[in-house]
Amino acid sequence: MRRIQIFDTTLRDGEQSPGIALQPGEKAEIARALEQLGVDVIEAGFAASSPGDFDGIAAVADAVGRTTVASLARTTGEDIDAALAALAGARRKRIHVFIATSALHMERKLGMTPEAVLERVSWAVAYAAERAADVEFSAEDATRSDRGFLAEVCSAAVAAGATVVNLPDTVGYAAPTEYASLFTEMQERCPELAGVALSVHCHNDLGLAVANSLAGVSAGATQVECTVNGIGERAGNASLEEVVMAMRVRPDVIDGETGVDPFLIRDASALVGELTGYAISPNKPIVGANAFAHEAGIHQDGMLKDARTYQIIDPTELGASMTLPLGKHSGRHAFARACVQAGRELDRAQVDAAFKRFKKLADLGVPVSLDDVFQEVRA
Ligand code: MN
Repeated sequence: MRRIQIFDTTLRDGEQSPGIALQPGEKAEIARALEQLGVDVIEAGFAASSPGDFDGIAAVADAVGRTTVASLARTTGEDIDAALAALAGARRKRIHVFIATSALHMERKLGMTPEAVLERVSWAVAYAAERAADVEFSAEDATRSDRGFLAEVCSAAVAAGATVVNLPDTVGYAAPTEYASLFTEMQERCPELAGVALSVHCHNDLGLAVANSLAGVSAGATQVECTVNGIGERAGNASLEEVVMAMRVRPDVIDGETGVDPFLIRDASALVGELTGYAISPNKPIVGANAFAHEAGIHQDGMLKDARTYQIIDPTELGASMTLPLGKHSGRHAFARACVQAGRELDRAQVDAAFKRFKKLADLGVPVSLDDVFQEVRA
């Protein structure tokens, strides 16, 4: 099984979600949780973007030990110097240099020719590599870049000393088979990539961030960039918990395992939710309140007979437990079990009668407790 590196960018791309501004102390607190969780790299911010971000990166560098800490930087000496300064206290540091490589971004955003971009890649990666042992290069908007040009960029980055090459789907545009083919083609066109780590970075604009990330892994990537709870620009990044658990649950189809401890995922998720103010949707996979809740009667009956009928993840691995909430869709089997658990000794006829009353109340659309069901009898 290949060991896949988890590059957590909750504190950089995740923090770019509208309305989030984590204080240095909060970044340090999340970073400590991420280190415990077992991520390999923490991208703590973009040092040149604001003094607050610089301080946040420095706080993370002080807070963690064995985990690599990264700062984003454009292809300028000022940005790379700022990243190096912010990371001065880190035991392991990575400079993450990026520039856009799609025709659209180069022409319309950067106002640069492809030749000029190629030169900047060589110059900036070399500048960073002279000052840090670990340098990642990202070709922004790689999925909308000309593949011939992208291959030249990859070669230039490796020749200049990059240790990791990332091909991001910056705008969440790629489809899984297409993203996999990008990785396959780049490795064919640019054999030098065999000497560095290849990375995926996917956005969720079409809900494909996790699918694309796993497709990239299947096509040779060994690093996944992701965020806790999938927070990030626009519709967010690939969600760490989904990537990690997909690899854990389907090792038969995804050749990769991570160093993340599933048991700590929910705590990290709750901490990020609390400090960012981004609440977790109840139907969010892995960490949502309903991720292991079964309400429909047929499902509840199946779960009570054999949990494998409707459960593909063992919730106890995550420190969670399966629940059978009672609602309008619930069945008699789960209802009777709930009565027993609540200490109500009922015969068959009493259960039938109570279940009828329960269904009537549940149809009203308000939450119904067993107390409500039995109160009606006494009244
Ligand atoms: Mn991004």
